[in-house]
Amino acid sequence: MSVPVARTVSELRAVVAQWRRSGATIGIVPTMGALHDGHLSLVRKALERAERVIVTLFVNPKQFNSPADLIAYPRTESEDAAKLAPLGTHLLYVPDTEEMYPAGFATAVSVSGISECLCGAFRPGHFNGVATVVAKLFLQAGADFAFFGEKDFQQLQLVRRLVRDLDIPITIVPCPTVREADGLALSSRNVRLSPAQRAIAPKLASVLLDTAERLARGSPILPALDEARATILAAGYRELEYLELRGETDLQSLASLDRSARLLAAAWLGDTRLIDNVAISPIGSWSGARSSLQSEAAQQLR
Ligand code: AMP
Repeated sequence: MSVPVARTVSELRAVVAQWRRSGATIGIVPTMGALHDGHLSLVRKALERAERVIVTLFVNPKQFNSPADLIAYPRTESEDAAKLAPLGTHLLYVPDTEEMYPAGFATAVSVSGISECLCGAFRPGHFNGVATVVAKLFLQAGADFAFFGEKDFQQLQLVRRLVRDLDIPITIVPCPTVREADGLALSSRNVRLSPAQRAIAPKLASVLLDTAERLARGSPILPALDEARATILAAGYRELEYLELRGETDLQSLASLDRSARLLAAAWLGDTRLIDNVAISPIGSWSGARSSLQSEAAQQLR
């Protein structure tokens, strides 16, 4: 059984209107395609939560910094559709660039503050591109729920801010990062790693998890972060863009662990840029923090 495909806003809206008439709830899973098990975990969660599920495949030119990267991005619609059909996905929405950004398109959505730090500092304009396309997809589909991976934690928080600020009536559902058995977060970019790089890659996740545990146990923050940065570089990563401790919702720098926090990193392994992040519990809740951290680590590494 194949998944029906809508390629225009009007085709999408016609299907959604029919679903609405039958009283169904609707979930949307925005992706750029080249689907792996991380994406599919979002789709499974969407199918549990909503009665009808739309998966979008759109390689959004506005969120790419480099034209070469945009051209090289894998486009695998038929393979993606074959992965989605057995799950029971109800609709694929695959607009082309003309449909999303017709001639004369002049509007940009920008979420200040959260867009400029971390990945935003190294990828100028990236999050404006994300905010613009996500706002469009939400307004086009009119879904009740949208599913985003914690793997792209800054993007998740940006989308939450966006829907609050613009009063878009949709519930954002975060989904945990899916990892390989050795801890490496699944990413469409992992296929670009050589066997030697692939062996080094999980070090990013393991250092983040070790450091999160140390911080939750009360280790001083700055030396722990410095040591983590040095360990990642010593493992063979070529460059570390950032490894930072941030407040969970606003992603502002933290001088102490007095609220829920996230440890986030972006690093280059050869020519491949990898990102990852893990949660940290506030220090006051340490008695439960170790077990919850361990269970999160176990879940993340599963
Ligand atoms: P992308 O196609 O890379 O734009 O990703 C589409 C969605 O899949 C985003 O919400 C990502 O956060 C999510 N995603 C990507 N990799 C993973 C992963 N390893 N685990 C969970 N979600 C993921």
